[in-house]
Amino acid sequence: MKILTHLLRHTAWAAAALVAGFVLLTAHPAKANKGLIGVAMPTKSSLRWISDGNSMKSELEKMGYSVDLQYAEDDIPNQLAQIENMITKGAKVLVIASIDGMTLSDVLQKAADKGVKVVAYDRLINGSKNVDYYATFDNFQVGVLQANSLLDGLKKRGNGPFNIELFGGSADDNNAFFFYNGAMSVLDPLIKSGKLVVKSGQMGMDKVATLRWDGAVAQARMDNLLSAFYGKARVDAVLSPYDGLSIGILSSLKGVGYGSGGQPFPVVSGQDCEVPSVKSIIRGEQYSSIFKDTRVLAKVAAGMVDAILSGKKPEINDTKTYNNKVKVVPSYLLKPVPVDVDNYKKLLVDSGYIKEDQLKQ
Ligand code: BGC
Repeated sequence: MKILTHLLRHTAWAAAALVAGFVLLTAHPAKANKGLIGVAMPTKSSLRWISDGNSMKSELEKMGYSVDLQYAEDDIPNQLAQIENMITKGAKVLVIASIDGMTLSDVLQKAADKGVKVVAYDRLINGSKNVDYYATFDNFQVGVLQANSLLDGLKKRGNGPFNIELFGGSADDNNAFFFYNGAMSVLDPLIKSGKLVVKSGQMGMDKVATLRWDGAVAQARMDNLLSAFYGKARVDAVLSPYDGLSIGILSSLKGVGYGSGGQPFPVVSGQDCEVPSVKSIIRGEQYSSIFKDTRVLAKVAAGMVDAILSGKKPEINDTKTYNNKVKVVPSYLLKPVPVDVDNYKKLLVDSGYIKEDQLKQ
């Protein structure tokens, strides 16, 4: 009897231990923690960075890393403090989408002194030798595609000449120059030949940039352009480098009667395929956007992190384009894709990037 109770007790313990072990195992996925990665994103005010952050976190966690993901709400000191904090917490690699690409040199030196590697994410970090790799899209091509989509839209409206106004992104973001230069490589010859007319005469990033990519700033500038140069004339196209600006530009246009009473909106470009802009495209307001699949960008950047920490060489496909004023940063460039009302379903909905019901008007 004694033996039996003993045995039973033993079995009960063993069973309990087994269950506990199982619970432990399932609560903590089997992967070892391969260390902390700091991911610094610029802002949550734009949907694209939210998907970037989420995808980075899940890609890295799948690989067995833990992730410190921070958003700085477009505040430069805030981003600096977040990055310093990541270094203090012992991050092994920093993945940074900078707010101002020129302000990170000191903090990156601190990182380098501790052997922490740095991947510039989407936006190049300028003026520092301590940028190891760069994962991004072909930013010049983004501009080319934006300009081509404007021409495509204008073609449907006759032969011109057409009035066009130009908007640039934030001048502290290296990408903004690539977008603008890419677009101007297409538009400039047509402006010179007189087929396109910039009535305001405002050209060049020093005149057309939009600080912090702020839609309200773009809206205010469009208001001014319309009242100063388009009393009688009509604007036929607007180069906008980012959906958030396009939304502001379109509200300004709406304010003076475009989009109603037989006065169509000008052809307006964009970038990022953010939900409000895709809805605007469906309504026939914004003409186009550029799809940059942030899920794929995150995969590339996470792959770089893992390669660095496994002593392998990250995959790169460009060693010439991105000179950060100290060195050429080895880069991986993904392909941007133009989106309009004809292909948004296939590219965005069928690929699962946006859910159909998010696009309900
Ligand atoms: C990104 C764009 C984005 C813009 C504003 C740029 O650096 O490359 O995709 O539209 O920032 O957030």
